[in-house]
Amino acid sequence: MAYQERAVKNYRRIKIFMIPYGRQSIDKDDIKAVADVLRSDWLTQGPAVKSFEQALADYCGAKYAVVTSNGTTGLHLAYLAAGLKKGDEVITTPNTFVATSNMLLSVGARPVFCDIRLDTFNIDETKIESLIRPKTKAIVPVHFAGHACEMDSILKIARKHKLVVIEDACHAIGAKYKNKKIGSISDMTVFSFHPVKPITTGEGGAVLTNNKKYYEQLLHFRSHGIRKDEHGFNVMHGLGHNYRMTDIQAALGESQLKKLDRFIEKRHEVVSWYEKMLGEVNDIILPKELPKNYHGWHIYVIRVKDQETKLPLYKHLLKNGVGVNFHYPAVYSHPYYRAHGYKNIQLDNTDVYHDSCITFPCHTRLTKFEVGYIGRLIKQYFHK
Ligand SMILES: *Cc1c(COP(=O)(O)O)cnc(C)c1O
Repeated sequence: MAYQERAVKNYRRIKIFMIPYGRQSIDKDDIKAVADVLRSDWLTQGPAVKSFEQALADYCGAKYAVVTSNGTTGLHLAYLAAGLKKGDEVITTPNTFVATSNMLLSVGARPVFCDIRLDTFNIDETKIESLIRPKTKAIVPVHFAGHACEMDSILKIARKHKLVVIEDACHAIGAKYKNKKIGSISDMTVFSFHPVKPITTGEGGAVLTNNKKYYEQLLHFRSHGIRKDEHGFNVMHGLGHNYRMTDIQAALGESQLKKLDRFIEKRHEVVSWYEKMLGEVNDIILPKELPKNYHGWHIYVIRVKDQETKLPLYKHLLKNGVGVNFHYPAVYSHPYYRAHGYKNIQLDNTDVYHDSCITFPCHTRLTKFEVGYIGRLIKQYFHK
């Protein structure tokens, strides 16, 4: 401990010390899996991709998995497969990475932002129905931080109004909603394997579905709209993309997937350290796992009670080497969105979220010592 304390002081002095909010965990077996592919005949479109897809489908209890070059292209494919197009409206959350909504714009659809809940920071399912209009074609919930949205209500609304449901589960592979793994629940579910996400392939993503028609559409759009004819010749049937994953990435993904459950258990342990450390601090509200859900704890978001304290606390932590962050500024608040028809949006809970929430480090490599250090900084700030 004394050594670590000293190391922290030294790191701080030379200004390279920063506890990141998220990071990957790569072991020898991951490196071996990748090296094996590099020595083989297939770098892309070989057996590792098929094998990873099967492993993902099995893990999530879904019929089909289609892996992609990243989560953003996975979202794009899912929207194309659902037939979303110009003139359609899609209800989604403003509390997400811009890609969720950007890919809707890419297919010509219009994102309609629904306010969030202040317990999970997910889309408020009770506010969805009032936003439905004749043009509404889909709902895109995002399982923020790895906590599942209220899927039963969302699916009920979708069935009643004949809407497609596409889950942006880029935070939530391995998480559960009412004992069901995320990935098996709605029409399509999208994952990301960026290095800060629960498992990584460097860059990468996947779309899971139980619907054969969507599955075929996903394959179609992933690879130039080309299929082989009965003679084995490539024939193009529609305008597609190249959103494929390499075998190098897929091998890493399959190796990582074997460790996913352990990774999430470790994240739960990190959260238990935060709770022990900060449970008694009255100035902040810690995030909670709702009953019947299994949280993925992709990120750990703390809310301050007095909004005036957010920025000073944030700066206090950064100055002391804690890689705090903010996920996310409301999508509609970005200059691009404001310039494209979203200037006058105002959602109450989304505003509260913006003014009072901070993302804290939470990942599988975080140590009890580091969480203790972060906890002491927070206490120090409020008790000064
Ligand atoms: C990371 C992320 C994406 C995009 O995934 P990439 O693999 O980085 O393209 C989309 N939506 C959410 C909610 C994300 O967190």
